[in-house]
Amino acid sequence: MNKEQLRKMREQIENRENAVKLVLDEYCSLDGCPCGFKEFVFWAGKKQGPGWMDNIQNQLVKSARELDCFSKIEDFEKEYWLEGAYYCKNCGTRWNYFSQEWRMLAFQERLLIIDGDDPNKLFDEVIGDEIFATAGSEPAGRRVLNLEQWVEFMLGRKH
Ligand SMILES: [Zn+2]
Repeated sequence: MNKEQLRKMREQIENRENAVKLVLDEYCSLDGCPCGFKEFVFWAGKKQGPGWMDNIQNQLVKSARELDCFSKIEDFEKEYWLEGAYYCKNCGTRWNYFSQEWRMLAFQERLLIIDGDDPNKLFDEVIGDEIFATAGSEPAGRRVLNLEQWVEFMLGRKH
């Protein structure tokens, strides 16, 4: 990456939504969908809480569900906190979408490959620095990434 590209990337990741969009755009232009990137599988599916939520993860799940390659599966098995299921038209992967209300009007969002392995095992514990937590329940003992570091992590750079 040259300086100009780096500068552009920095501008784009000024906010969470743009950073997520940049990462998803990159996956889709490389592979047609994000399903094959283990960083995506990890970050979209990792466990949140109990007393906190990862705002980058929530945005990632929200934006991913809106991708053209994902279509809704109407007939999915009902399960606690399971809000929907998706089928990837590009690669055939099927995803469950969980949205757990962990406190009033605050949700922990997750996308998990149906019958897939536990995504938490893909990487050591790491979270974004945009965390919303109940006082005293902040996650501890994990590597924390700011937005720029998060983009680099997701794109497999420097980590
Ligand atoms: Zn896919």
